[in-house]
Amino acid sequence: MDPTSFLDVVSLTKRYGTFVALDDVSVTVGEGEFVCLLGPSGCGKTTLLRVIAGLTGFDAGDVRLEGRSIADLPARKRGFGIVFQSYSLFPDMTVAENIAYGLKIRNVSPERMRARVRELLEMIRLPHLADRLPWQLSGGQQQRIALARAIAVDPRVLLLDEPLSALDAKVRAELRGEIRRLQRDLGIPTLMVTHDQEEALALADRIICMNNGRVVQAGTPEELYLRPATRFVAEFMGTSNLLDVEQVRALFPDLLPGSPETGAGRRYACIRPEHVELRPDPGGVATVRGVTFLGHLRRLEVESPAGLLTVETHGSAEVAEGSRVALSVDPRHCTWVIDDMEAAAPGGTGA
Ligand code: ADP
Ligand code: MG
Repeated sequence: MDPTSFLDVVSLTKRYGTFVALDDVSVTVGEGEFVCLLGPSGCGKTTLLRVIAGLTGFDAGDVRLEGRSIADLPARKRGFGIVFQSYSLFPDMTVAENIAYGLKIRNVSPERMRARVRELLEMIRLPHLADRLPWQLSGGQQQRIALARAIAVDPRVLLLDEPLSALDAKVRAELRGEIRRLQRDLGIPTLMVTHDQEEALALADRIICMNNGRVVQAGTPEELYLRPATRFVAEFMGTSNLLDVEQVRALFPDLLPGSPETGAGRRYACIRPEHVELRPDPGGVATVRGVTFLGHLRRLEVESPAGLLTVETHGSAEVAEGSRVALSVDPRHCTWVIDDMEAAAPGGTGA
């Protein structure tokens, strides 16, 4: 066990009938760490969070807190704070009563409870809403209250299941910052589920990328974005140009020496759009087919002997559609990935 690990999911397997929802999944959250569980819809994220929370059983493996198994500990005794995607506030209780809920069932004294609720409302910057009912709040406010309610009992671990996904973009970005600030201030080990790679990149100390009930890669946001291990991670973590060996030979032969010995399966060079260098060159082998101005950058579709590439530039010099260009890539910006999607069966059981 990692010496700083706090929560450990060890080789966990969970089936629904014959369907394998989690296949030998191992996950670690260190003390004070913010970990994002990232993957497409249906890959098993919620199932894993529910197993950790003790709300769902499992078939094999273990869940440990500070090295000790909590597999037999009922959910209410785990001392975890949970926030779900949909607003799960009690509709007939005021904001203050919602936040106080966990304290009340723990028989905290009324004075202590009032003080704690006030403190939490200050913390989430909504002190004026104590007497409102949930339906009188915006979506973003409701999720802040849900967060305050989860934090109220000083949870040992915070589990967040897509807490931002029902909110519109601006509120989502705001609350994202808020969650990160609270987590840092309080130092609560946190596992947050999301299917949004940008959210994971922005929030996480570490990202665990899942597909079809399995962990595909775990690492820092930089590692997953810049050094994806597989095609799935490369494509899930943002836009990428994936070129097979023949395409690399045709366009960027300099990158070939980096190609690993091919074992089973195909390999691709993964090159992010911002790492393709482009300069106007009447004798160049590539042609600009489309230019999209996105304010902070231009996204170009470039036709090349290796097919269509996506290129992003910050250059102020305009490259017109139809113009010829030369392309190059610094070998340091090329990562070879294995193809883990060829054999992936839809609805896969991890086979
Ligand atoms: P995610 O949260 O990543 O979208 P889930 O953990 O909710 O994924 O679901 C993973 C898979 O398990 C999905 O294919 C889903 O249909 C299936 N599943 C989830 N809950 C149940 C259940 N109670 N019974 C049967 N299948 C389920
Ligand atoms: Mg889910």
